[in-house]
Amino acid sequence: MDQDRMETCIVCGQPKEEGIHIVNEFICISCEMEMVQTKVEDEKYPFFVNRLRRIAVRYHV
Ligand SMILES: [Zn+2]
Repeated sequence: MDQDRMETCIVCGQPKEEGIHIVNEFICISCEMEMVQTKVEDEKYPFFVNRLRRIAVRYHV
């Protein structure tokens, strides 16, 4: 496994190779897909919103 290509996902906290960047933060493919599929009424939704809000606060988006 090539550690240099791994980045730590801000949602699950796991080092992952594939994912997307929002500003300078990394979200892995599986979390991104899970987030897209999460509905507002889902109990996981506030968790994802909180994570994204943390990025927004840090970068004043
Ligand atoms: Zn993740």
